[in-house]
Order: sequence, then C-alpha cells, then structure tokens
Amino acid sequence: MTLTKEEFKKRLKEKLDRHFEENLSQASDEDIFACICSIVRDGYSSKWRRTRIAETTNQHKQTYYFSIEFLPGTLLKSNLLNLGWLDTVKEAMKELGLDFDKIAAIEPDMALGNGGLGRLAAAFMDSLASTGYAGNGNGLRYKYGLFKQKFVNGYQKELPNDWLQQGDYWEVRRESKSVLVRFGGHYNMVDDHGWMTPQYDGASIVRAVPYDVAMVGYRNGLANTLRLWDAEIAPEDELNYPSIADRRKVEDLTSILYPDDSNYDGRLLRLKQEYFFVSAGLQSIVNYFVKDLKGTNFEEFPKYVAVHINDTHPAMAVAELMRLLVDEHRVDWDTAWDITQKTMSYTNHTIMAEALEKWDVNMFKELLPRLFDIITEIDRRYVESLEGKVDGGMIDRTRIIKDNQIHMAHLAIIGSHSVNGVAALHTQLLETEVLHDFYELYPDRFNNKTNGITLRRWIQIANPELAKLLDKTIGSKWRYDSKEMLKFEEYYHDTATLSSLTKIKADNKKKLAKVIKEKTGIVVDPDAIFDVQVKRLHAYKRQTLKLLHVIKLYQDLKAGISHPKRVVIFGAIAAPSYVFAKQVIKVINSVADMVNNDPEIGDKLKVVFLENYNVSLAEQIIPAADLSEQISTTTKEASGTSNMKLMANGALTVATMDGANIEIKDAVGSENIFAFGLDKDEVYKYYANHSYHPRDMYEKDPVMKKTVDALIDGTIPGCQSEGRALYDNFLGDNEQFLVLADFEAYLHAQDLAEKVWKNKRQWAQKSLVNIAHSERFDSDKTIERYASEIWHLDKVEIEDKA
Ligand SMILES: *Cc1c(COP(=O)(O)O)cnc(C)c1O
Repeated sequence: MTLTKEEFKKRLKEKLDRHFEENLSQASDEDIFACICSIVRDGYSSKWRRTRIAETTNQHKQTYYFSIEFLPGTLLKSNLLNLGWLDTVKEAMKELGLDFDKIAAIEPDMALGNGGLGRLAAAFMDSLASTGYAGNGNGLRYKYGLFKQKFVNGYQKELPNDWLQQGDYWEVRRESKSVLVRFGGHYNMVDDHGWMTPQYDGASIVRAVPYDVAMVGYRNGLANTLRLWDAEIAPEDELNYPSIADRRKVEDLTSILYPDDSNYDGRLLRLKQEYFFVSAGLQSIVNYFVKDLKGTNFEEFPKYVAVHINDTHPAMAVAELMRLLVDEHRVDWDTAWDITQKTMSYTNHTIMAEALEKWDVNMFKELLPRLFDIITEIDRRYVESLEGKVDGGMIDRTRIIKDNQIHMAHLAIIGSHSVNGVAALHTQLLETEVLHDFYELYPDRFNNKTNGITLRRWIQIANPELAKLLDKTIGSKWRYDSKEMLKFEEYYHDTATLSSLTKIKADNKKKLAKVIKEKTGIVVDPDAIFDVQVKRLHAYKRQTLKLLHVIKLYQDLKAGISHPKRVVIFGAIAAPSYVFAKQVIKVINSVADMVNNDPEIGDKLKVVFLENYNVSLAEQIIPAADLSEQISTTTKEASGTSNMKLMANGALTVATMDGANIEIKDAVGSENIFAFGLDKDEVYKYYANHSYHPRDMYEKDPVMKKTVDALIDGTIPGCQSEGRALYDNFLGDNEQFLVLADFEAYLHAQDLAEKVWKNKRQWAQKSLVNIAHSERFDSDKTIERYASEIWHLDKVEIEDKA
C-alpha cells in the first residue's frame, strides 16, 4: 500500500484534530509522535487481521519462538520502513517544518532483554514476517525493562527503566486470550472416568493476560505477532477483594527483567517467570489448535505447530506440553512424547557452564509439583531406554535429574528433535566438547545456524546514506535480496564509489561526534580512527584487553611515540551483581578521565564511555565506526552479532578467531580483517595442562609489564582498589580469559590497522569488501535455514493491499 506525502499530511492533521484538538502549530512533539504511531497502526491493522485469518483458513504451520528476552529497540522507524513509508514520511515532515529524527527519538526503547540473546530474538521476529513465514514470539511483558545505566563518579548506577509509563504505542491487550497459570500447592492423582487425573489443592492461580505487538513484514502483506504475557490477579481472587499489596505481589511476577544472562539472583522468582510464560504460551497454542485448527486430533499437532526453545530459560516447555497433552487432553504418554519431540527444537547459546541452567530439586518441586513429577518420569524413561545399550557413565552424565538438580539443557535436548549452535565453531564445540555425549547418542539432532542481523535496521534505518550508495551502484534489489550486495565488490577500484564511502563514514562520524559532545561534553576529532567496542560488559568479552591497549597508547604518546589520532568508544552494561565487570567500568572511566584531561594528549587520543548502551545508541554508534573490536577469548563467544552489524556498516574488524568472527574472515578474506590471538587448540591446551602462567609473561615482557603496572603504580588517579583488582586478576594462574596471553598479538594487530589507516583508499576498499559480504549474515537467510531445516514451514502468501 502506498502513502503519498499529501495523504500523510492530511492524516496527521486529522489525528491531531481528533485526538488532541490541536493544529500543527500548537501540537507538542509528543502529540505528533503519538499521531504518527496511530497512522502507522492504521497502516498495518488490516495486514495483521488478514494474516491471522489466512493462517487459520489455509492451516499454515506456525512457529512460536519462546524467549525470555526480546530486544526490539524502537519500532516506529522499522514499522515505517517495512510499510514502505519511511522516506515519504521523512520528506512530508520536512515540508511541514518538523524534525522527524527528533520526534522519532521520543519513543523509549523496548528493552526487554540484556543483549545479544534478546536482540537475536527481535531480529528473527522481523525476518520471519519479512520472509513470509507464520512465526510468532512468546515472552514476558516486563514492567521495567533493562535498567538505565548511569555513571556516578565513574561507577555504574542502575536506575529503573519504567518504559511503559510513556505508554506503549504498539501493544494490544487481548483480554479474551487470557489463561490461568498454577503455582505451588499439592496434588493427588484420582481416577476420573478411567483416566488418572491430578486433583490440585492449595495452589495459587495467576491470570496471564497477553499483550500482542504486530511484527510487520518488509513490504509484503504479513504481520505476525509478538505475544508478551502480563501477570494479573486471578478472577476468583478478585472476589475476595484483594488489597493493593495482594495485587502487587501477583503483578511483581512480571515486574523486572533479570539483569543478567549468566548468573541469577532471585532464583525462585526467575523460575516462576519462566514457568509463567511457558505455560501461558503453550496453553494459548493448544487452545488455538483445539478451537480453530484440528480439534483434539493431537497427532497432527507437529504438522501445524513448531515451538522453539531459545536458550534454556523456556526448556520446561517440554514438560509443560506433556502435562497439557496427558493431563488436560488425555493423550497417552508415548503418543504425547512423540508429539512433544516433533514439536520442540532448541538453540544453545553458550558453552559456559554457569549459564546452563540447573534448578534445585526442592525448590522446583515446591513451586511446580506436577511438572516436577513429569520431568522425573521423562528422566526415568530416558534412563530406562539407554540401560544396557550404553555405558553407565554416559547415562549418569546425560540424565536430567542428578545431584539434586534439574539440568534444563538436558531436558531441552532429550525433548527436542533439533539442537543447534549459533556459529560453526560453537556448534563444533558443542559436538566435540560440551554436549559430546548427546552428540554420540543423537548425532542427527545437531546442526548449526549461524546468527544473523537484520540489515533493514542496521543499514536501511541506521545508515540511510550507505543504503542510497548501494542503490546508486548496484540497484535497489539488495533491499529485498541481500545476495545482491556481493555486486558491490565490483566497485573495488571505482574511485568515485570509494570516495562516497569515505564521505558517508565521515558524515556519520561528525554526527556521532555531536552526540558524544552532547552526552559527555567530550570533544572528539571526526578525522580520528573511531575504534568501537560495544557489547555487554563481561570478562570473556575482554574490554580489559582494549583497556590495556588504551593505556599502552597513552604511555607511547607521553613518551613521544606517535600514533594516528584515535577515539576509543565503549558502550557496555554490567550486571548489577557482577563485581569484576563493575570494577572494569570504573577503571575504564578513570583512564578516560586521565587521558581526556591531559593537555599533552589533546585530541591524539580520546576515550569515550557512553552510558546506557542499548539498541538506539547502537544505531548511532555503529554507522560511525572505523574499527570493530571483537576480541573475546577464543571459544567463549558463541557467535556475536555486533561484529556483523559493524562490518555491514563498513568497519574493519580486529578479531580473535572466535564465534562468527571466523566466518567473517572466511567471507572477506584474511587481508580484510585484522585477525590475531590464540586459536581454540591453544586455549584448550592451556586449560588442559594448567600451563597458563601470566606472571612469567609479564616478567619477561617489559612493554606488558609497564602497561599492566599502570594499574597499580599511581599512573591512573581515582581507581586504586579497582586497578589493583584488575592487576591481580590478570596475573593469576587461574585467569581463564587469558588476557595477557593475547596482549602482544593484539598490539601487533592494532599496529597493522594503523598502517592501513594511513592509506585512505586501501581502507575504503577493505571497508567496501566488508559491506558487500555482510549479506552472509542477513537474518532473513538465517531464518530461511531455520524454516526449512528445523521448523519445516511453508510461505504464507498474502496480497499487500490496504
Ligand atoms: C547487537 C547487540 C548486542 C550484542 O552484541 P555482541 O557484541 O554480539 O555481544 C548487545 N546489545 C545491543 C543493544 C545490541 O544491539
């Protein structure tokens, strides 16, 4: 459906008049923003309705992506883009004298996730709709999204992020789809007309109310649904006149997003959250199947429904579907198990043991007595099926319940037909190390699906000038089919294209320089190398290695050794309970203060740590980056996706051979990436032989010693204890992230980057190659692979009309 500028202006004026009784000159930016959102909703509402009808009428198989995090960022621009209205609206607003970017910036980020995991889930929602598949999200509607990060005296402070206060413009409350979720209490099995059925007693019941958000496809007729569940007091309890405190206790269930993806606080509440959205989601799917599709013909369930378990948090979906089938719908156990395995698939996102969830048996039993017994039965049958066939050690290692803990990854693997890792190396490590026993048992279940990013958000929205350059050179087909971007490589020797590329980057850097000035007061030179590391703060991601490089550069400059000008830009949030990560933040901020205020340094080196890294900030930083820092300890970063976003925007990567960095190198060739550091075998050798002795390295290498000593010798003011903590960490034999082992190689990689930087044409050529090959990481293609190899979906055809 097309929208003309005149039509948009007319609708905007009508909406202002109707909703706010205002004309354009009186209207506030907030009112205008609300009216534009309303116009956009009108634009997709019929698609959304017709998609639902078509899916039911034509009985399309649908996939439901269960994820405890979704990180869509803002939706106005992406909805406008996908409707095909973005440029029209921008131009019309300009003609009306309105600042589109300023008004769009009113939208709060929908930050229902911590980082990469949630961002991937959001990208998949966009790609499912855009590639024409019936795919829906299922998650939690946290009242407070990820906290707002503030720096006070260099320390991270966490402020509440009450994103719903401003009103969420996109959600629709679907009261009629509410379901009830049961916690606690006891049950007995009673014979009900020949079927052993649980009879519950003393449980507390919470009402789950869905809020649906449309996921609009790119210039097609589709709009899928992201369903987020909110906890409310149950109708029966309403009859007892609940107090505000009672009400709040129930509502607290969906109040906060756990600000961590590897260590958990408030474990009981976290467990409750997980069961809440899993049970509510599965109930609504089963209700839909029974009412609108196939009645109780459950053998057909896997032909119409795929449920995806994104990381271990929704792993209890396996047991909950069994409960619904066996207890509520009287399907016999073996049939139900067959249905469940065919329905479920699971993505593993980490090899780090502390992030593979395990639940204490007693806690689980008390909160979810029936589910616990079902898991026990799944485990018993699993063990029974293997007895006598494999050695006992294998059974002990892979069973679900052992040592008084429930191993959720094991439940997910045993209950699914597909288990995938998120980059080639990661999947290989799952097969050969972390999940090796399961790989021996079920080799056919394992497969790789390298993560992806949506190029619509990271190029078309975040970098519109680059998008235009692509149109001008290779035509606009790449916007529908990213493979076309490979043609951009044909412009490798084209001087005009190379200078356009340089000019676009320069303009993006000027824009970011302005943002930096506004947010921090720091003045940076847009001609300097913009060296970017943006990602959650974690020891394995090694912001520490970047920090040591900054200290080294500072010492060089003080000693009169020259380097090209550089602005080092960090964006990183630390989990509130993660002490080491917070110490790193403090030290980076102290180093930044020292460097930025040293008159001898001037603009030769600046260090900028931007607060509150989120999707919107990423959209401003990434198009302005020259260098992309992807320097995790090899084997530890499952895939990474900021590496992909940055290459798509023409940044050159400084990379360890970890996660998807390896695939970036394969795509662009080793001459277009600055690869360095230990490989996987070297890392594992250190672990296996306990042969990592960083103090020896430090004593032998005077450059390293001088750099590391700066942390404790008073060079950096204001972070004595934190500097000491980092120093002690780096030099301990048990420092598992091997920072000092990669230090020298990292400096070499940076030296090489500086050398290339001096040749502007060469730099632009490498940048061009990176942009062209970012097509390999288009999430539309990732989704095509999930759809055909795991979910077995067919495409939904809906005419794109009003
Ligand atoms: C892409 C993205 C991430 C993931 O970054 P990694 O470097 O892959 O860890 C985290 N947070 C935000 C806001 C993102 O946009």
